Amino acid sequence: MNKNHPLPLVAIVGQPNAGKSTLLNKISGKQTAITSELAGTTRDRQYVDTSWNGVDFTLVDTAGLAEDENPELELSLLKQIDVAATEADVIMFVADGKEPVGAVNRQVLKKFRDQKKPILLVVNKLDSARKHDEKTGEFSRLGINPVFAISSISGLGIGDMLDFVAESAEKACPKENSKTDLEDSSPQPIAVSIVGKPNVGKSSIFNKILKEDRVVVSPIPGTTRTAIDSAIKIDGTDYTFIDTAGLKKKEHRQARPDVFAGFQTFKAIRRSDVCFFVIDANEEITKQDQRVASEIFAMDKGCIILVNKMDAYTKDNRGKKGGQWDGRGKSDDQYQTLRDYISHHFSFLWMCPAFFVSAQTGEGLEEALSSIKPIFDARQKTIPEETLKAFLAKKMKTNSPKLLRDQKPPKVFALRQLETNPPLFELLVNHPAAISMQFRKFLENAIIKDLEFWGTPITLKLKGKDKS
Ligand code: GDP
Repeated sequence: MNKNHPLPLVAIVGQPNAGKSTLLNKISGKQTAITSELAGTTRDRQYVDTSWNGVDFTLVDTAGLAEDENPELELSLLKQIDVAATEADVIMFVADGKEPVGAVNRQVLKKFRDQKKPILLVVNKLDSARKHDEKTGEFSRLGINPVFAISSISGLGIGDMLDFVAESAEKACPKENSKTDLEDSSPQPIAVSIVGKPNVGKSSIFNKILKEDRVVVSPIPGTTRTAIDSAIKIDGTDYTFIDTAGLKKKEHRQARPDVFAGFQTFKAIRRSDVCFFVIDANEEITKQDQRVASEIFAMDKGCIILVNKMDAYTKDNRGKKGGQWDGRGKSDDQYQTLRDYISHHFSFLWMCPAFFVSAQTGEGLEEALSSIKPIFDARQKTIPEETLKAFLAKKMKTNSPKLLRDQKPPKVFALRQLETNPPLFELLVNHPAAISMQFRKFLENAIIKDLEFWGTPITLKLKGKDKS
């Protein structure tokens, strides 16, 4: 699973409080062995890559992907359906089983019935089997089929529901067979996306990169109807720049409602090896910026922070745009102040380089471009077993895991690298619960620093040796 082949997308839509995030969390807790710690982020997971009956797919909370500064404001159901119908392969409508059936309004139902994509109705919050039959009957009359009665909390009914989801996802996107194997053997271009909230200068950067003196080989049609990727060769290396939501054509972009932007960003990040994450040097960092950053991190992508519009940046900008810049004191090096401000807000991206750039003058863009390849290479490398052994022994000497209350004494046996791009490590221990989060974080960070995985998040999984 993973590697940049996009998985079928299953969109979860539903009213606020129908239990969409509980459902996602339930599924991710059960199915996903690897979960990233999102330090510094407050939101629930918006998606989960999972596998059921041998079918890999991604479940996405469509409402949660809205480009909205206020995460409490969920996208209206009708908009969610529009997005899901355009962008997803399967639609899952989650209704609150504790509410009367009539609460699902007619307009919404009409949209659903006009829909050509596979749909299922999931009636949530039914914690007893008796309620299941009763409610399934009531909800079936709405005309959306099939209906699954589930409890996101207890997990009741989720298996049957996932059977249907997996089957529909597979039908919607049949697996490519031998073709992918062939493709994988030849060197693939490095996939790069330029992401960030609206107006930070993504399309200006994209156009500047394309206009410079490099050969644009050919436009290649992307996987979504709106994306046209660009193949670029820089110093003998092939890159594919993923065009997010029509970066090249502004008119096109504006014709699309904003609700698509979040989904486009998500899809672009998913297909990338490395992301250019753009922020505006002259604006305060907002939740929306942090949200894009945390998506990059959660998907374990390489990341380069581009602090754009440096041509317009002056010390005077500090203090002007809201209180954040005030009281930080005068610094001889204004870039350092800016650097501190950025690292404070994106602390979980501490391993990623930041470049001060200007799409207008081109300042800094060359350096940023030349940092892609080393990050990509780091993501591809495999650390020899012996090196890992020596590394672990050294780290255990200086910082061994502490004994946790009510747990057995922690024991650490070995460290292995399981995968590349993204790098995945496994730590063999006596009991995962006996290993503190602090130790795990410490070791993750040490892997990045000592074994040189700069620019990319890595994942460290714990594996217990003892059975009891
Ligand atoms: P996008 O929504 O992130 O793709 O942002 P655009 O590329 O459309 O840029 C938004 C606005 O910022 C436009 O008015 C651009 O001219 C302006 N802009 C973009 N990059 C720069 C820059 O480096 N310097 C300055 N001064 N303005 C910029």
